[in-house]
Amino acid sequence: MVNFPDISNTNYFTNRSLPNKEGEMTGKILMFREKGKEEYHLIMTCPFCGHEQERDEAFEKKPFRPKCSSCTKSILISKLKDAGKSKKKKKE
Ligand SMILES: [Zn+2]
Repeated sequence: MVNFPDISNTNYFTNRSLPNKEGEMTGKILMFREKGKEEYHLIMTCPFCGHEQERDEAFEKKPFRPKCSSCTKSILISKLKDAGKSKKKKKE
C-alpha cells in the first residue's frame, strides 16, 4: 500500500477517476505533493491502456498532463468543475 502523507503537510492532493476517449471512467489517479518538494508523487491507472504506474514527477504548470509510461498518451488532469471556490451552489 501507499504511504499517504499527512494531508496537512501537502500543498496539492487529488484522488479522482479518469475518463477514456469514450468518457468512461476506466482510469484513476492519486497525486499529491508534500510541502517543500518540487515533485509530485502520482499513482495512476491509465484510462486508455489500464497500465498502473507510480512515480515522482515535476510539472511546470497546470493543468497537469502526466504521460502514460506504457502507451505514452498524455492524460489531462483537468480542474474539477464542481469544486470551484468562487461559486458555491450547494443546496441545503
Ligand atoms: Zn496507457
